[in-house]
Amino acid sequence: MSKIVGIDLGTTNSLVAYMDGKEPKVIADLEGRTLVPSVISVDDQGWIVGERAKQRLLTHPKTTVYSVKRLMGKGLVDAQEERKYFPVSLSEKQPGVIQIELGQYRLTPPELSALILKEVKQRAEEFLGSTVTQAVVTVPAYFNDSQRQATKDAGRIAGLDVLRIVNEPTAACLAYGLQKKKQGVIAVYDLGGGTFDISILKVTKGIFEVLATNGNTQLGGDDLDQRLMELVLRDIQQEFGQDLRKHVESIQQIRLEVEKAKRRLSDEDVTELVIPIEQGMVYRRPMKRVELESLVKDLIDLTIGPCRQALEDAHLSPKDVDEVVLVGGSTRMPLVRRTVEEIFHQTPHCEINPDEVVALGAAVQADILAGGIQDMLLLDVTPLSLGIETMGGGMSVLIPRNSTVPTGAKELFTTFVDGQRSVDIHVFQGERELVKDNRSLARFQLKELDPLPAGMPRIEVNFTIDANGILHVGAKDLRSGREQSVEVKPSYGLSDDDVTRMIQESFKFAKSDMDARQLIEARNEAATILRHTERALNQGGQLIEPDERDRIGDRMTALKTAAEGDDHRLIRERIVQLDKATVRLAESLMESTLQSGLKDKKLSELP
Ligand code: ADP
Ligand code: MG
Repeated sequence: MSKIVGIDLGTTNSLVAYMDGKEPKVIADLEGRTLVPSVISVDDQGWIVGERAKQRLLTHPKTTVYSVKRLMGKGLVDAQEERKYFPVSLSEKQPGVIQIELGQYRLTPPELSALILKEVKQRAEEFLGSTVTQAVVTVPAYFNDSQRQATKDAGRIAGLDVLRIVNEPTAACLAYGLQKKKQGVIAVYDLGGGTFDISILKVTKGIFEVLATNGNTQLGGDDLDQRLMELVLRDIQQEFGQDLRKHVESIQQIRLEVEKAKRRLSDEDVTELVIPIEQGMVYRRPMKRVELESLVKDLIDLTIGPCRQALEDAHLSPKDVDEVVLVGGSTRMPLVRRTVEEIFHQTPHCEINPDEVVALGAAVQADILAGGIQDMLLLDVTPLSLGIETMGGGMSVLIPRNSTVPTGAKELFTTFVDGQRSVDIHVFQGERELVKDNRSLARFQLKELDPLPAGMPRIEVNFTIDANGILHVGAKDLRSGREQSVEVKPSYGLSDDDVTRMIQESFKFAKSDMDARQLIEARNEAATILRHTERALNQGGQLIEPDERDRIGDRMTALKTAAEGDDHRLIRERIVQLDKATVRLAESLMESTLQSGLKDKKLSELP
């Protein structure tokens, strides 16, 4: 039986996890990296996803896109805010479906997300040694129906059957096993790369209910990087008289370096920023954690307001919160942890890697669905209320938010005009009193009513939500027994035909193309590492033991042989092996270089 995997489809990074016996585990690539940057780029050979796409962000800004999640399930009218921040141009494919222009291509957010899903799917398949066709995918708690549906569409386009969409905070709680609590209130604080989300959940006997959500859609680790970058750019201008602001490649390098330094400062009190500039010049700057903290404190403080607001909306105070869970890479920062402690007056959970916890929880949910974990029942709840429009544009709720699914509701309605022959059933989702403020999901007509005085007909409207969270709406004229029903797909979104076509189109970038591209890249990398190793051996071969030299030689030969073949995985494996074998050599060279006073040059710059 094939495994069901859990996928965290993140704004900044995506991950895939599976259940290894009783324990969820994140799947890494051959180089040991667990995060796949949610970045997509395209060149004349096809799509590039993840780490290598991230490297192209600034060098190929017109054909590289990130943060696609912000546009999921949205039309241009819904995306006015996002639009300001997107460097690539956006248009509309049809009302309600955005298109992103990447070079000669125009793709919708679900298609782009599908590319990320395919990447993690492939990673899981390689690791598990079997095909993966089913997944649980997480979304933010505040995602509405179209955003959830768009996420499901992305799965279908990627060849994945999305068995369940799970709220990210719920997934985090699952990873911590908090569903086992009889009862409790949990605050999930999620500070990622570009977004901040706070969710207040209530758990009762295995069922999670979202009491309130809040956050800031334009706040995250990227903003901290930006602050650091501005500082470095100013420094470089003062010290070297160079303005690198317009120099995309330098900016890219600075961005990557400051981000790394920021991460190091989560574990160390002090670090050194080392950024090579042109002509062998190197910018160096020691940086203390306290400096970073004072540089970004105001940004972290921006998370306090939304937390207070969410508590207030849930009619709770900090002392009512039983547990606090940290999610998102940026919560590794000690300053963030202190801030959270101040808000909730307690030590938050951070035993599980905050950037992996959501994917791990998704794997737990997958296992529950697969029947692996049987001692607990887990149900989803509807994120928003569902109802129909009544006279005067009012919203009549049939299924209130936070109802556990599967669920159903019936209500009787009647006509307002004498002799009325048909009624319009207009389905809405949302919490507002008037339907104009809520989101229209679908509309249909119940026709051929017998002409009767107003108020006489009895029309039964029936809502059911199946275990997959899909809403079915039916209307029945109780007098004649005539019925009409629809499966409700959001009226803003991709049609079934669209999705089918996208699935077909996605075969254009079929596996053979992917393999060919990966082979070319693996060979290029092999050539580069072989060249560097050869040079390093020439310079410093005498610094290491003969048998170590021999081992490097053997691995070089093995890599050369692999590079002549066409198995890109084998080439990558051997690159990793050669890389490991040269660690000592690189260190020895570095030491001797430092001693000979050439310390400002990189290994690759040595004559
Ligand atoms: P998202 O949920 O938005 O996809 P993640 O949870 O993966 O994002 O968080 C990514 C952010 O976390 C990035 O801004 C990254 O710089 C930051 N980050 C990752 N590790 C650390 C760390 N050790 N210290 C500080 N920030 C970190
Ligand atoms: Mg996340």
